Amino acid sequence: MDKKEGGFLIGGIEAGGTKYVCAIADEHFNIVERITIASEDPEKALKHSIEFFQEYKIDKLGIGTFGPVDINPKSNSYGTIQNTPKIKWQNVNLYQIYKEALGVPVTIDTDVNAAALGEYHNGFGIGKKSVLYITIGTGVGAGLVVNGKTFNGLTHPEMGHISIRQREDDNFEGSCSFHQSCLEGLVSGPAIEKRMGIQGQLIEEDAYVWDLNAEYIGQALANYNLILSPEIILIGGGVSKQEHMFPKIRAAFKKYLNGYIVHERLENLAEYIKYPKLGQDAGLIGSFYL
Ligand code: ZN
Repeated sequence: MDKKEGGFLIGGIEAGGTKYVCAIADEHFNIVERITIASEDPEKALKHSIEFFQEYKIDKLGIGTFGPVDINPKSNSYGTIQNTPKIKWQNVNLYQIYKEALGVPVTIDTDVNAAALGEYHNGFGIGKKSVLYITIGTGVGAGLVVNGKTFNGLTHPEMGHISIRQREDDNFEGSCSFHQSCLEGLVSGPAIEKRMGIQGQLIEEDAYVWDLNAEYIGQALANYNLILSPEIILIGGGVSKQEHMFPKIRAAFKKYLNGYIVHERLENLAEYIKYPKLGQDAGLIGSFYL
């Protein structure tokens, strides 16, 4: 595909734990081409993606990546993947690599911030000032967009690692190596597998573990609501494909708020807590807007 006169092409990457998705968008943010690379081997993924972007002569690149990652543009290590359990990716500086290979402006943010941004512009966030996007899959993380800008502080928020009060009859020790009972350690894919001995997708819908997980996710969302008061909460990621979880999550959310926060939007939780409009593409589309 050739650029239209006066038009430009944006490259976007959604760097996930298993998939490394690269795409090209035109000046209207429509995807014109995409490829999916396995993210297991950073060297291969980087090489393949650079060749792809070179072919299209992109003008800008936005990257939404798993973390932790240095997202401070003023830092010398901007774009460097930090303390991740994905050992091969540790200390990989995405910013430097793409900047040098492509010679175009590169912007980096977290995968979840990118997804929140995608929904803000093209999904259920249209017309809203703030969007919270949480992914529940191999890991758990959440991103926030306020007035069109992703929210970061000293580093990026790590909302997947907040402490959760476990049910009294639940003495599962969690799967996070940093915290005993954080949200990710209790409800992520690996947490479900550690607790049950099998993968989540093989577990029946009426199994107790789903009630438990919905309770903990609802508790976390209530906490996010209390702290950030976002206008909408979107849940993506592999575990969110368990549609039967949504009504249970909303019920738990309501239980934890216990009527304390009053707003008409909280009266219809099916519209307040939902699956993203862009589905699994939210992060990729958000990367164009970075
Ligand atoms: Zn944790």
